[in-house]
Amino acid sequence: MRFPLLALPRSALIAPPALLGETLTRSSAMTFSADSARQPASAGRPPRDAACVDFLRRLVRTPSLSGQEAAVARHVAAEMHDLGFPSVRVDRIGNVIGRYGRPGGPILLLNAHMDTVDIGDPNAWTRDPFGAEVEGDILFGRGSADMKGGLAAIIHGVGQIVRQGVDLPGEVIVAAVVQEEPTEGMAMRVLVEEEGIRPDCVILAEPTDLHLARGQRGRMEMHLSTFGRSCHASAPERGENALYGAARLIFGLEMLNAGLMTDPVLGKGTLAVTQLRTLSGSRNVIPDRCDLIIDRRLTLGETATRALAEVEAVMQREGVRGAVQIGAYRSLSYTGYETAGPEVYPAWLLPEEHPLIGGAARAIEAALGRRPNVIIWPFSTDGVYTMGVAGIPTIGFGPGDPARAHTADESISLSAVQRAADAYARLVIALLRQLARRS
Ligand SMILES: [Zn+2]
Repeated sequence: MRFPLLALPRSALIAPPALLGETLTRSSAMTFSADSARQPASAGRPPRDAACVDFLRRLVRTPSLSGQEAAVARHVAAEMHDLGFPSVRVDRIGNVIGRYGRPGGPILLLNAHMDTVDIGDPNAWTRDPFGAEVEGDILFGRGSADMKGGLAAIIHGVGQIVRQGVDLPGEVIVAAVVQEEPTEGMAMRVLVEEEGIRPDCVILAEPTDLHLARGQRGRMEMHLSTFGRSCHASAPERGENALYGAARLIFGLEMLNAGLMTDPVLGKGTLAVTQLRTLSGSRNVIPDRCDLIIDRRLTLGETATRALAEVEAVMQREGVRGAVQIGAYRSLSYTGYETAGPEVYPAWLLPEEHPLIGGAARAIEAALGRRPNVIIWPFSTDGVYTMGVAGIPTIGFGPGDPARAHTADESISLSAVQRAADAYARLVIALLRQLARRS
């Protein structure tokens, strides 16, 4: 596929070395100025942008648990300002939104979340989780892979475009969002439905090891209670043990899991009982109520209503008195904005033949010199809202090994962050042109 020429004065166009791919330079006649901040390449690695590395280290040194992203958001906004983003603002829930380009055309949104999970057991770490130590090409710290590396890369990737004053046929939005870890998609819902930003395409910078992701299973949480009648445990025949009802139910649920539907790409839906507790006050009382938590992973074609009905059918078959409902979240952002909703995060999958997959794969290949694999994420992302609910074509591309996320000694390759930044610059230009041609 050929990309149309950019209508830009030659003098305004200077390309960083990593943008010097065949397709882009020839078709767009782009040239980029040498970047004095870049360090020379070594051992086949791209030259590293010192400002991007410094920024990533600042991000990792700033703890940002979900709901406590204020300090990291300040770093993000300051970096966007320093890189020359013409518009930077913080929305009601605390997302930092940087924009560049021409309003009125197609909108491409790059997404990264600013929050991280807790460090867990500090003794499991051999590095300071907030030290941002660098050893060779590897940077260590909580959030380095999930996903401050991706966050730094999208900001500096778009920063390359901003610095060159590239004339885009639309607009690129960099959205650094809050509270993805506990309630993925929630901050993106606020951005789309309440802030009124409606992108034509979303790229999630969650780790893919620089491959291209096109979907994931969804999830939901169910809260189930079984009811009985309490009495003295010395004469159990006088009561009805809610725990025994729960036991029959758990066996039925295990069998239900075995028969859940499978999607050829996303795999099988799953169900697991993850918590169980009785509410009896003492150990010599027959419990009259037992509460269970069900973790349900939804494959394509499974809905929350269907998943709930399946559990209700098991309760009926087993003759258990009880009630089941979908869990609900209530959360408060660092800006004091409160949100609430059901714990339902739908599965999503962009068809392999969607033009966005081909366009993105070509742009990534031009930037990295190798064709990316098209993969499915094993974890959940903001795509549950953007594609799963809003139907906005969504793909994933980011630096970092997904297996490093949420682990002790979490780490990321700095050259992968640089490669990702270079690839984002290319992706933005290529995909906005592709979208502009289509509209
Ligand atoms: Zn993440």
